[in-house]
Amino acid sequence: MFSTVYGTPKYLPFDEAHPTDATHPYRRSKLHIEHMLHDLAASDPSWQIACLRYFNPVGAHPSGLIGEAPQGTPNNLMPYVAQVATGQRPHLNVFGNDYPTLDGTGVRDYIHVMDLAEGHLAALNFLSGHSPPPPSLPAATGDPPLPTNHHTFNLGTGAGTSVLQLLEAFEAASGKTIPYQIGSRRPGDLAAYYANAHLAKKVLGWQASRSLHDMCASTWRWQNEGPTA
Ligand code: UDP
Repeated sequence: MFSTVYGTPKYLPFDEAHPTDATHPYRRSKLHIEHMLHDLAASDPSWQIACLRYFNPVGAHPSGLIGEAPQGTPNNLMPYVAQVATGQRPHLNVFGNDYPTLDGTGVRDYIHVMDLAEGHLAALNFLSGHSPPPPSLPAATGDPPLPTNHHTFNLGTGAGTSVLQLLEAFEAASGKTIPYQIGSRRPGDLAAYYANAHLAKKVLGWQASRSLHDMCASTWRWQNEGPTA
């Protein structure tokens, strides 16, 4: 359902008990769906529901055959960097370097799409074998009590990576130089956004295992050798 539901951090890393923020229409649309699923679980105990809050999915299938091909100018960092690496775009515009982060650029919790896929399998396995409620599921402040057939998990790595760190990792994985220019902040962007992924590990037995290098290398293979190259 996307980790955007948390909004501006009251603390980091975000755990599942962090308050959600319905003030922004995009976040609200995700929360609407979570609430509908919550109500469905409460109304019919035969449902077993897990809401998975993704952080920043990136990377591609290791074959290089399945990946993300955004239409037009990519909005997201990784596909934009990949298009700069191939020479399709002259440089990356870095949206601000005056954030209170390690190097001033925005920090996110990038997660490999293959880890994310495995997180879904772990959730499905958990739900299908599920009987007692898992230990100490937290509820966000102000939320109604959670039914025992409804669960929420962050799917992230728990590690924050800055724009410049990702760029450097992509250069190493691709062997290309990625020119960049520092520009102004993108409206609505947050300085830092990353997960506490302990609950998924404890309850689902899942944790992300692929590195930032894996994320960049698979993106590069897809971009450089894949069907849209
Ligand atoms: N970003 C950037 N240039 C771009 C796209 C993104 O500097 O062309 C930055 C953005 O400000 C944020 C990070 O990269 O700090 C991740 O942005 P993305 O849009 O991929 O994810 P989101 O901000 O939605 O979490």
